Amino acid sequence: MTEQPHDQFFGKGAGRMDAIAKGPFAPIYPVIARQAIQTSGIREGRCVDIGCGPGHLALALGAASSLEIDALDASGDMLAIAEQNIREAGLTDRVHPVPGDVHDLPYDDGSIDLVVSRGSLFFWDDRVRAFSEIYRVLRPGGRTFVGGGFGTSALKAEITAKMREIDPEWEVKAAERLSRRNLDAVRQDLEKAGIAACEVREDEAGFWIIMRK
Ligand code: SAM
Repeated sequence: MTEQPHDQFFGKGAGRMDAIAKGPFAPIYPVIARQAIQTSGIREGRCVDIGCGPGHLALALGAASSLEIDALDASGDMLAIAEQNIREAGLTDRVHPVPGDVHDLPYDDGSIDLVVSRGSLFFWDDRVRAFSEIYRVLRPGGRTFVGGGFGTSALKAEITAKMREIDPEWEVKAAERLSRRNLDAVRQDLEKAGIAACEVREDEAGFWIIMRK
């Protein structure tokens, strides 16, 4: 990402992402935060939201738990918006914007209890390396909730209808990201990274990689 920045995450692209996250996508973040907490059983300790964008999943997690959360992103423009959103939500004491790249995470081995990430892995240059990095920083007993999705099938249908008006190409791109072919490639990359204690859970509206350490 640092070598080949994806333009849509910088400049006006970051503002557009925030507008979508505050608009059609807004209802999904509390739902996904609940799913991450329920699936992992982790409600406190250190959490990182990788590829946080404008920070809405990190904020929903902060509101639903007592986790200390790093909202990490490789785009400074996204982080500037995340910082403002964190301030407006009154969560500056527990949610911290952090510049960083998933391929080289700025954390010690075994230091993070919960790693979450939504909609970012589709843009990672080297998923095998990224998965190894995530596993490296997980604490024994730690879990991940990393993937892509829309919370529930009803929310996915609502978003799809709204996004048709905003971006006619979005539906095709979203379908490709959640396709069987892409999921198979993700599973292969997890195998290549040698992460055995791991499952890819498909739900009605996306998929989530749950690593256990
Ligand atoms: N997670 C947010 C959400 O669901 O609203 C934002 C998702 S956005 C589609 C993808 C985010 O991943 C962008 O903010 C982008 O800057 C970030 N990203 C892409 N590649 C990255 C990398 N290698 N390391 C860290 N962040 C990355």
